[in-house]
Amino acid sequence: MLNDCLFCAIMAGEIPSTKVYEDEYVYAFRDINPVAPVHVLVVPKVHIPSALALTEQNSMYVAKCFEAIEKIARAEGLEGGFRVINNCGEDGGQSVMHLHFHLIGGTKLGEKLI
Ligand code: AMP
Ligand code: ZN
Repeated sequence: MLNDCLFCAIMAGEIPSTKVYEDEYVYAFRDINPVAPVHVLVVPKVHIPSALALTEQNSMYVAKCFEAIEKIARAEGLEGGFRVINNCGEDGGQSVMHLHFHLIGGTKLGEKLI
């Protein structure tokens, strides 16, 4: 793998993924281990390790991710609602250290955390 980061490698095409959306700022693909009928990972195209690495300089990528989420949610038929999750750091359960948002839906989700 040329890229140390799994999601950078996916975006470079070094590892296959099932793309659902792409623009200048954002790449989105299906999670390999879905927890719901729709489970898409929405990833900024620059390597930001986690939400703790956000700054005034790079935080526009978060807005771009959410603009993409609105488009993907409609395309996936999630007008009835969905959940967006960001795991941050070890205690937050983050396993891939490249900022990403889980877009989860396609079923009635529980009232609790996930
Ligand atoms: P997190 O635990 O929040 O860091 O989320 C990482 C997510 O990446 C998990 O839900 C994994 O199932 C997912 N994942 C790991 N490897 C791949 C891959 N090659 N393609 C798609 N999703 C992946
Ligand atoms: Zn990366």
